[in-house]
Amino acid sequence: MSKSDPVIVVIEDDPSIRRFLRTSLGAHGFKVFDAETGKQGLVEVGVRKPDLVILDLGLPDMDGVDVIKTMRSWSSVPIIILSARSGEQQKIEALDVGADDYLTKPFGFGELLARIRVALRHAARLQEPTQDNVFITGNLKVDLANRLVSVEAREVHLTPIQYRLLMVLVKNAGKVLTHQQILNEVWGPAYRENAHYLRIYMSQLRQKLEADPTRPTFLLTESGVGYRLKIGERSESG
Ligand code: CA
Repeated sequence: MSKSDPVIVVIEDDPSIRRFLRTSLGAHGFKVFDAETGKQGLVEVGVRKPDLVILDLGLPDMDGVDVIKTMRSWSSVPIIILSARSGEQQKIEALDVGADDYLTKPFGFGELLARIRVALRHAARLQEPTQDNVFITGNLKVDLANRLVSVEAREVHLTPIQYRLLMVLVKNAGKVLTHQQILNEVWGPAYRENAHYLRIYMSQLRQKLEADPTRPTFLLTESGVGYRLKIGERSESG
């Protein structure tokens, strides 16, 4: 592993899940600290300055959404939430206030590892100086400086709104964005309830950018939540 192993703070009141995460993440080269309440978790995050936080939304002392709000007032650390299958609305609220990704219990460890890697890569990209003016995922290439979009080296023309939608996704590549977050960024706060706009424009983007728009490979739907632009392997080396 690298000279400094990534540090993860796990905030979860279920001792068996805590133990499982400590052991299995530890075995994969992560340094894990854990907390069983929201208040303790906020202290751990403040003290350990982790590279990532895994947060259970159902905590005994605080609403998980409030834990995220508090954390976001002083930290941009990537947050992956763990939610119960019944906590659909809370999950969307958590993403709206700044969580990066989510897993629904019960989840597989492989899935969690994959989400952690994506979140760490997304965070690393944000820290890079913006010389990285080209975004590539799969066959899609976006030249941000020249506003050129191409698929397999063939230039694609996008309307201003389609381009703006793509930019919001590129800026947050790898991260789950809720319908409201995207509507707010592309159309403005007055359009937050107009989910059908988003469906129409997303389908247009897929028509133009995906090889098979009915089976998208990078403009991904997060069912009942929103969308995510998948980070391609090729964009990692940049
Ligand atoms: Ca819990």
